Amino acid sequence: QPAIQLSGVWKRYPGNEEPAVRDLDLTVYRGEILALLGPSGCGKTTTLRLIAGFERPDAGTVALNGEVVASEDRFVPPERRGVGMVFQDYALFPHLTVAENIAFGLGRLTRSARRERIRDLLRLTGLEDVHDRYPHQLSGGQQQRVAIARALGPNPQVLLLDEPFSNLDTELRLQMRVELRRLLEQLGITAVLVTHDQQEAMAIADRMAVMLAGHIEQVDTPEKVYHYP
Ligand code: ADP
Ligand code: ADP
Repeated sequence: QPAIQLSGVWKRYPGNEEPAVRDLDLTVYRGEILALLGPSGCGKTTTLRLIAGFERPDAGTVALNGEVVASEDRFVPPERRGVGMVFQDYALFPHLTVAENIAFGLGRLTRSARRERIRDLLRLTGLEDVHDRYPHQLSGGQQQRVAIARALGPNPQVLLLDEPFSNLDTELRLQMRVELRRLLEQLGITAVLVTHDQQEAMAIADRMAVMLAGHIEQVDTPEKVYHYP
C-alpha cells in the first residue's frame, strides 16, 4: 500500500489561465524518498501543498496510507494528515529558542512527555548544545535542523521538504544530504523532496520524478532518469 497516492489531480489558482497541476498521478511507497525535480513554476510546491492539505484539488484524489484525504466529497485538514513540512526559508519563530521552536509543533502533551520529546528531537538532530539559543544565533545548517526537528515533532509518517538546502553553502549542503538521508532511514519516514539540484536528488532519493508544466513526465531511479535523452 503506497504512503502517498495522487490520482488525476488538477489544481488551478484563481486568476490563472493555466492549471498549476494537471492530471497528476504520483505514487510514493512507504519508506521511500522521492525527489521532485523540474523548472521553476512547473508545479512542484503546489504538489507538496496538495499532499499536505494546504490546497484542495479541483479534481482527482489524494490518498495517504490508503485513506482518501482529498476528493470531490472529502477533505481532511492538514493537522490530521500526519504530514510534516519543511520550507526553504525554515520559517522559525525569531523570538523563540530552539527548544521552544521545536515545542511549538507538539500539541497536547503532559509537561514531562513534552520535555522528553523535545530532548529526543534535539538529540536526533544534534542540537542538544544549542537548545536555548535563538535562531539568529545559529548557523544556516543548525537553523535547517531546527526546522526539520519541528516538522518531526508530531511523529509524521510523511515528511515534505521544499528546497530545504537552497540557502546553505555547498559544503553544508553536501553534509545535510547525508544527515537527512540517515535520519529518514532511521525513522522509516516516507519523504518527498523538492529540489532544483539534480546532484542532490541523485544523492538522496530512491526515485526521482521529473515535472514539466504541471505534469509528471517521468518517474524512475536516479540512474535511469540520468540517462533519459
Ligand atoms: P514550482 O514549485 O515548481 O516553482 P509552483 O507550484 O510554485 O511551481 O507554481 C506552479 C504555477 O502556479 C506557477 O505558474 C505559479 O506562478 C502558480 N502559482 C503558485 N502559487 C500560486 C498562488 N498562490 N496564486 C496564484 N498562482 C500561483
Ligand atoms: P539544562 O538547562 O541544564 O540543559 P534542563 O533540565 O533545562 O537542563 O534541560 C534538560 C533537557 O531538556 C536538555 O536536554 C535540554 O536540551 C532540554 N530542554 C531545554 N529547554 C527545554 C524546554 N524549554 N522544554 C523542554 N526541554 C527543554
